Amino acid sequence: MNDTLFGKIIRREIPATIVYEDDDVLGFKDIAPQAPVHVLFIPKNELIPTLDDLQPEQAHLIGKLALAAAEYARREGFAENGYRVVMNCREDAGQTVFHIHLHLLAGAPLGHFGAG
Ligand code: AMP
Repeated sequence: MNDTLFGKIIRREIPATIVYEDDDVLGFKDIAPQAPVHVLFIPKNELIPTLDDLQPEQAHLIGKLALAAAEYARREGFAENGYRVVMNCREDAGQTVFHIHLHLLAGAPLGHFGAG
């Protein structure tokens, strides 16, 4: 269970800057931020490698990640200016850690989403 880099963060075996926690979700700062605010939200109690592995009975966990990100954005005061959430799935999206996670990016205009 949770036997990934992020599992080690959940178990406090490696350090992370934890900024959000509830019964189901942990949020911590990305070590290589791609925006002024870059936080990762992960499920604490289930190891789901990618979005493609998500089972219907686990769907509520994705909602919990989204709600945690939205709550954090309101709490930190950037909800009104806006933010982006991203989930990378496997190689073509550049996924590097196989414990499902939601990226929250904010703190500056992020540009429009595009392939180029
Ligand atoms: P992804 O590329 O979607 O799999 O995202 C994995 C993210 O984890 C990347 O943005 C990395 O910068 C981030 N990351 C890797 N190791 C750590 C760590 N020890 N603490 C915090 N973030 C990390």
